[in-house]
Amino acid sequence: MKQNLFGKNVTELQDVLVPLGLPKFRAKQIAQWMYEKGAMSFDEMTNLSKDLRAKLSETFEIFLATPKDILQSKDGKTSKYLLAFADGTAVESVLMRQPYGNSICISTQAGCAMGCAFCASTLHGRARDLTGGEMLAETVFIDQLLRKEGQKVDTMVLMGSGEPLMNYDNVLAFLHLVHDEAVLGMSYRSITLSTSGIVPNIYPSRTRASPFRSRFRSMRLKTRCARRSCRSTTNIRWRMSSRRARRMATRRSAA
Ligand code: SF4
Repeated sequence: MKQNLFGKNVTELQDVLVPLGLPKFRAKQIAQWMYEKGAMSFDEMTNLSKDLRAKLSETFEIFLATPKDILQSKDGKTSKYLLAFADGTAVESVLMRQPYGNSICISTQAGCAMGCAFCASTLHGRARDLTGGEMLAETVFIDQLLRKEGQKVDTMVLMGSGEPLMNYDNVLAFLHLVHDEAVLGMSYRSITLSTSGIVPNIYPSRTRASPFRSRFRSMRLKTRCARRSCRSTTNIRWRMSSRRARRMATRRSAA
């Protein structure tokens, strides 16, 4: 099985290319082709020799995701993409064309284990965590569509299926990737992470010991919104249980 290069940063590309006898600068060239120019095959990488392109194709592949379904809103401003990864796992990503720019909403897990009462993503539980490369694939897939129109992804919310802070390491890897100048070079300030309130994974990110402290600080952590969601979840459950209690009381008084 060929190794997928998509989702690797320049250092990781060097790690897999240097053992093949390739100089380090090749890794940067390949990263530019994949992420800046949207090349999905080595044949498109015209500043690599024909022999090198053939050699790379024997060992590696470049695979983002396969679009399985696309839904457009009536006003054409919102598009929803069902994207499948190599193992067939599919997640939804959304493009919202806002007056202030193009905003995308990406998934961080396939399904979700959190059980928020109002949310369909949790109905079948969590299938698996997404890798940083798969989250990048969601982003680059939409970015490439926009680039055909002379536009790009401007802002991003991690608010699709999944709880980002329950997939902490992969989400951090993704944030590094998407911020990397050799990848998309997105500012952390244009990224919002929404959490249902995984407190143990919020605090470590803000401590001095964490290498991501300053980055997380500059990134907006939407906990207030999430707390509201938790409250509404609690309220819905409370109302259900109070209705059930009233039903039980009525039955008891009728007996
Ligand atoms: S954490 Fe998010 S995706 Fe998961 S169940 Fe709650 S609202 Fe849905």
